[in-house]
Amino acid sequence: MSLHRSGVVALLGRPNVGKSTLLNRLVGEKVAIVSPKPQTTRGRILGVVHRPEGQVALVDTPGIHEAKGALHRTMVETALASAEEADLVLLLVEPVAGKDGKPVLTPATRELVERLSRLRAPMLLVVNKVDAVDKPLLLPFVAELAALRPDGEVLLISARTGDGVEHLLHTVLARLPEGPPLFDPGTFTDQQERGLAAELIREQVLRHTRQEVPHAAAVVVEEFDESERAPRPGSAATGGLQGLVRIFATVFLERESQKAIVIGKRGAMLKTIGTDARKALERLLGAHVYLDLRVKVEPRWSETEAGLRKVGL
Ligand code: GDP
Ligand code: MG
Repeated sequence: MSLHRSGVVALLGRPNVGKSTLLNRLVGEKVAIVSPKPQTTRGRILGVVHRPEGQVALVDTPGIHEAKGALHRTMVETALASAEEADLVLLLVEPVAGKDGKPVLTPATRELVERLSRLRAPMLLVVNKVDAVDKPLLLPFVAELAALRPDGEVLLISARTGDGVEHLLHTVLARLPEGPPLFDPGTFTDQQERGLAAELIREQVLRHTRQEVPHAAAVVVEEFDESERAPRPGSAATGGLQGLVRIFATVFLERESQKAIVIGKRGAMLKTIGTDARKALERLLGAHVYLDLRVKVEPRWSETEAGLRKVGL
């Protein structure tokens, strides 16, 4: 019998490269929110992959990018701190087309690879979204990346289609130290339901408001009342929700104009967001959900440390 391996793996990469999509695919449960807009992951979300040969605890980090303002600085620091603590770093990059349509290695990506190669933890370089580019265009890009690594190793995946993901998982497991499982077999995430609830609500705000409400939205769950929750959750799929959870949450925005968009004409938008969020919460919790959703303006919350604390970040 082969050895059991286990460890912590930090998922790093610039915003929008597909970190959350990969995490969700690996864990097989929806634990991180995925959005077509950059920077939707703010916190550290842990997903656990269980295999007979080992256990991988994944940390989904905020995207790394040029730091501007307090929020961005916090995000970059969180990302690098998770990398330092990890047993292995997975750096995701994507083939972004240059002016002539061919994917190019940008100076920013080059710098990121070099910067992370200097960390204590070993690193695997992974190109995601290979489904989106023709092979002949992809290969020169991959060769350029490989040249940056001492072992020349680059893995190709599509988190969306699952292509290469199983091979990636095997490679990751092989790099982890020998050790007992770190989590119980039933554990897929250690993030509190309360935090997941806030993420699900924020996902619906972003989904329904598109560009108008950029990243100015933060959601705080003020109260998570489980007094009428059933001892065992039901399943939304079979229509068998059990018990009731009451959730009181606030959506913080930076400007009155954003608040007006989120509330909509005679409250129509807030009602739609609330209904979709409630359905998602019921699936998550296996219980009926009563959702009380309020909207508040907290000017410039994302630019100061005090503001970040106020919205719970
Ligand atoms: P994150 O910011 O790194 O967490 O990125 P997300 O996982 O939120 O993904 C950002 C966008 O890229 C979403 O629209 C995803 O659907 C898309 N995406 C992620 N992985 C792939 C992939 O393998 N192929 C393609 N074509 N799109 C992907
Ligand atoms: Mg993400």
